[in-house]
Amino acid sequence: MKLSEIPDNSKAVIIRVSGHGAFRKRITEMGFIKGKTVTVIKNAPLQDPIEYEIMGYHISLRRSEALMIEVAYYNEQDDQQIANYNGTFDEKKLKTSIKEKCNTINIALVGNPNCGKTTLFNYASGSHAKVGNYGGVTVDSKEAIVRSGDYKIIITDLPGTYSITEFTPEELFVRNHIAENAPDIVVNVIDASNLERNLFLTTQLIDMNIKVIIALNMYDELEQKGIKLNYSELGRMLGIPIIPTVAVNGKGISDLFSKIIDVYEDKDPVVRHIHINYGSLIEHSIKQIQAELKKNNELADRFSTRYIAIKLLEKESTTEKLVSSLNNAENIIQKVKKEIRKLEDEYNERSETIITDAKYGFISGALLETSSGEIGHSIRKRIDIDRLLTHKFWGFPIFFFFMWLMFQATFTLGSFPMEWIETAVTEFGLLAGQIIPEGAVHDLLIDGIIAGVGGVIVFLPNILLLFFFISLMEDTGYMSRVAFIMDKLMHKIGLHGKSFIPLLMGFGCNVPAVMATRTLENRKDRLLTMLITPFMSCSARLPVYVLMISAFFPDNQGLVLFSIYIIGIILAVLIALVLKKTVFAKQDVPFVMELPPYRIPTIKNSIMHMWFKGSQYLRKMGSVILIASILIWALSYYPRNVEYSSEFMHQIASVKSDTSLTYSAKNMKINEIELRMQSEHQERSYIGSLGKFIEPAIRPLGFDWKIGISILTGLAAKEIVVGSMGVLYQAEMNADENSGTLKIKLQQQIHTSGELKGQKVFTPLVAFGFMLFVLIYFPCVAVIAAIKKEAGWGWAVFAMIYTTSIAWVVAFVTYSIGSLFL
Ligand code: GDP
Ligand code: MG
Repeated sequence: MKLSEIPDNSKAVIIRVSGHGAFRKRITEMGFIKGKTVTVIKNAPLQDPIEYEIMGYHISLRRSEALMIEVAYYNEQDDQQIANYNGTFDEKKLKTSIKEKCNTINIALVGNPNCGKTTLFNYASGSHAKVGNYGGVTVDSKEAIVRSGDYKIIITDLPGTYSITEFTPEELFVRNHIAENAPDIVVNVIDASNLERNLFLTTQLIDMNIKVIIALNMYDELEQKGIKLNYSELGRMLGIPIIPTVAVNGKGISDLFSKIIDVYEDKDPVVRHIHINYGSLIEHSIKQIQAELKKNNELADRFSTRYIAIKLLEKESTTEKLVSSLNNAENIIQKVKKEIRKLEDEYNERSETIITDAKYGFISGALLETSSGEIGHSIRKRIDIDRLLTHKFWGFPIFFFFMWLMFQATFTLGSFPMEWIETAVTEFGLLAGQIIPEGAVHDLLIDGIIAGVGGVIVFLPNILLLFFFISLMEDTGYMSRVAFIMDKLMHKIGLHGKSFIPLLMGFGCNVPAVMATRTLENRKDRLLTMLITPFMSCSARLPVYVLMISAFFPDNQGLVLFSIYIIGIILAVLIALVLKKTVFAKQDVPFVMELPPYRIPTIKNSIMHMWFKGSQYLRKMGSVILIASILIWALSYYPRNVEYSSEFMHQIASVKSDTSLTYSAKNMKINEIELRMQSEHQERSYIGSLGKFIEPAIRPLGFDWKIGISILTGLAAKEIVVGSMGVLYQAEMNADENSGTLKIKLQQQIHTSGELKGQKVFTPLVAFGFMLFVLIYFPCVAVIAAIKKEAGWGWAVFAMIYTTSIAWVVAFVTYSIGSLFL
């Protein structure tokens, strides 16, 4: 009986609560739990809501909600008794009846034809329903009652189906049975010798978000074939307990029943609801549709909205009909149409096929990770390719080859447009300089905005190319294989294979890398990946290394550069290990790394994906870098009225009027004086004061205040570090000289104060420490902004502080230890 049918002032005992998601959670939190007594206060017919009393509280429920609570009515046992009610109840009889109702478990056997459902049913129930060797023998359902411990278990044997859709009467029957009878637990019987096909049905059960146990039947045949399957690991990945059974001789059946009771009592640790990852595009579509569906309480209370959304994307008419009666049906249908069009456009494939492919991708991933040897005969060809690409040995050289190809192509192809942009920015700056009259606006535009933003735009071709290759790898499906082979390795540092992709992207630019962590399902993995991404040395840091290495390590250029990158990686690993043991100490759950089918991507799509990623990057870089460039420019531009140590203007005038000099000699002299003036101005500007202010903090690292200023300006973007050094060390920055003069100036730089006065500022040791500092400290404003967006302010601040602290410690240790030996 349903709670909604109970009349006023009567008591009823709750037997079970069906329904889904938020509804179920809310209702159990309010105290509607099996075995509790509820009193009906006011239940006038046609009246909504209905008022109840439970555990001393008054609660009102909508009629539709009360419909989902099944109860035992005190009087329902014996209607006659009510009629002749004489004031006494047979209390004892009543209690046993309620107890029995509470201890009844409804289970349904669901599985492919010929997987052994009826055999299992017969063995368990002792009955002898006809066992057939072909599909369709079980036309409708049969029921049997089995007693196990305190429980009465009602088993329903359903017709065999390959899938739960609507194409055959059997499918519809199974589907309606699950939706209407809402069995407490579905036992998914699987033919172990044909795992891949059988698990397809399982993926649909997973989508439905119901309690499932897998009976891995015909386990004898699996063993005969010599296939090793780690079924307990597979079960943990799927969130479904798996019990091997041999229905013909009853092996495993009693285990199955004790598992049923465990799961019913919510005592099984394996049970959890997982989401099959359909890939970012489909997932996005599902979310969009879900948002629209959730506007309907009545639907959301009864079904998993995710399931309905997937069914709608599969263009299932039964679900469309279900939705069509809702008041926002029109909106839902429009949204579904739009999403389907988007997906079909993108994949050039029917949406139902895309989802089926994704399900098989999930199954392949799960099986490849948990089984050895040949899994069944129905395995598709693509698994053969996967056996190579995901091979525990060969997978790696193949991957490294592709990586090499990608970086090689990125940098060779990228160098041409890079030069064009460089020239264009310079020309544009010169042109703007001529048009705009001298003054603060002129300087802001030329030295602040054009120089700052221009410095970043120069990297655009490289970044776009990198994104293009990454899109290509994602679109073909290769990226999933990479994640797969990296999984074991990544597990060692508490991460999953999927974290590898963001980390790899980090070598290009940390900003899209942080954004790419979105593909990780688990928040813990996302955060951990985000926090170690900055140690992947991005391309913006490269100019700093190039400068330092060419100035101070002329003999071991490649080796030193390589060591910086490797130190970054080692640091990331160490930090991940520490964070895993401390901040993120929590047992993690295994999940399936799906292997989606290989696709031949269209150039159009890959370019579109590249552009999508690129524009996200540009927007972030554009806004943040623009503001930071202006800020840093202003800090070094003001105050204007600084006192110079000598009359620079005077000197320039006298050079100009000196007739003994040639034109070019004059220019050189003037340039030199101007640079000295500029440098002195930098020193006495606000940023100069800041640099001097932090000098005591960086002294122990062997740095002087000029390095301090460079580090400060690098907060905006690390490529700015080199530019600042150019100004501070008074060297002409000239693109085609490859900062040659700056190199010499750095080598000659002498400490002007402190205990090191008179000594060289830059030794190889200081240069190395400086490179490490630039590698590790505060990633850059854009990365922090990205972390803030993905994880909130707390983690953004944490990232700022912890990276900078580690940078300091590492540089300090390097300098202190190095000083002992050098
Ligand atoms: P249903 O279509 O799912 O109901 O499957 P049936 O129960 O009709 O079984 C189909 C065939 O598989 C029958 O010939 C059974 O004897 C056989 N079978 C069932 N379970 C097992 C098992 O665990 N091992 C083996 N080797 N055969 C089984
Ligand atoms: Mg059967």
